Amino acid sequence: MSRPPAAADELGRLLLPLADEIEAAKTVPPHVVAAIVGSGALAAMVPAEYGGRPLSHRAYGELNRAVARTSASLQSLLTVHGMVCSSLSRWGSEATRQRLLPRLASGELVGAFGLTEDGAGSDAQAVGTSATPERSDAGAGDVGTVWRLDGTKRWLSFGQLADCFLVFAKHGDRSVAFLVQRDDPGVTVVPSRPTSGFRSAMLADLYLDGCRVPADRMVGRPGFGVSQVAGSALSLGRLCVAYGSLGLAEACCDAVLGHTSSRKQFGGRLIDLQLVRGLVSDAVLDTEAARLLCEQAARAMDTKDDWLIQHVLTAKLAASRAADKASAAAAQLHGAAGMVDGGPVDRWVRDARVMQIIEGSTQLLQDLLAEESLQRFRVRRRHPRYPFEAGADCAE
Ligand SMILES: Cc1cc2nc3c(=O)[nH]c(=O)nc-3n(C[C@H](O)[C@H](O)[C@H](O)COP(=O)(O)OP(=O)(O)OC[C@H]3O[C@@H](n4cnc5c(N)ncnc54)[C@H](O)[C@@H]3O)c2cc1C
Repeated sequence: MSRPPAAADELGRLLLPLADEIEAAKTVPPHVVAAIVGSGALAAMVPAEYGGRPLSHRAYGELNRAVARTSASLQSLLTVHGMVCSSLSRWGSEATRQRLLPRLASGELVGAFGLTEDGAGSDAQAVGTSATPERSDAGAGDVGTVWRLDGTKRWLSFGQLADCFLVFAKHGDRSVAFLVQRDDPGVTVVPSRPTSGFRSAMLADLYLDGCRVPADRMVGRPGFGVSQVAGSALSLGRLCVAYGSLGLAEACCDAVLGHTSSRKQFGGRLIDLQLVRGLVSDAVLDTEAARLLCEQAARAMDTKDDWLIQHVLTAKLAASRAADKASAAAAQLHGAAGMVDGGPVDRWVRDARVMQIIEGSTQLLQDLLAEESLQRFRVRRRHPRYPFEAGADCAE
């Protein structure tokens, strides 16, 4: 089922020389997209019966880690494309799965994720895009249902490149999800305002103005849109961001070790100064801890462990913080060289900030983690034999 992590390192080595080109271009050049397609990464969240080359979450996480070492912007392509593929695989109609999944797996189509709106950021339930069923006459007396979508989605990673969009809307007070195609009537894609981090993530805003999609493009049932479809997609997204943050933190740690062991001041190497060693060891410690939490979360997703949500929240929180700390150490220890506009250290600092915002901000995830822990605490209090440790056997 899963390929060994060596495939991830191979992709990482292939992409590494392209890091500056991707950042300077503020877009992802077609040959880089081709390299990603060639690695099979876009097929990883598609079942084999629909033309996919499924990977375990651990192996997919490793791909995300390897790509983020080169470019966090580029890694976000794996995040959102994977979220669209897994949602469609799990919740899509059979007709839409058969029609779109093979093309998503081959990279012929790219998917983007449209949840955020002006009035719905952290509060995903507040989406205001409306979904209204209409009767349609498709000709030859073939009367069916289409859904009319109206609203605006913001900040879709790789929205500029995407061919289809997983969009969340409301039908009355029930949330619904749809797969919208770029060539559907009433769809307009406009590049978002430029962001300081993730400069090459090709962000777009999506305008739906009387957009009509056939009923078989609904993903999940009415009422299930945000709670189930977005919920499970966000778990995968958070795992990807956790592994992406880990890759970014690793790149920072390597740069810090390389620089401080070659740079000489006061007659010796920076790395031999105790205060410098404190910064370096803190960054390495947090990065190593994040690696273990990422592996624990990926294992939980692979085994559909009861602790899945808690482990994914923990991994995303810890890894994005590790990236923040490691990039701050890199900036501090490179001195003026770290401040070069558009240089790798500058990029890591900006991208690490984004990792603490996307797929749930640090504060939102802290809130969710506290709630999840509280619920488990209540269960443990009622059932003292309930295990504190994940994976422990709670059977009598
Ligand atoms: C580079 C980039 C790529 C993105 N890609 C996508 C994408 O592909 N698809 C998509 O749908 N969206 C995308 N987004 C949007 C992203 O998901 C949102 O920015 C994120 O959900 C936060 O929403 P917001 O920006 O509206 O901030 P708000 O919700 O306004 O939150 C602002 C801050 O308030 C605090 N806060 C919010 N809620 C709480 C809470 N409950 N408890 C404590 N503090 C809280 C946090 O500090 C938070 O950072 C992207 C954003 C960026 C920057």
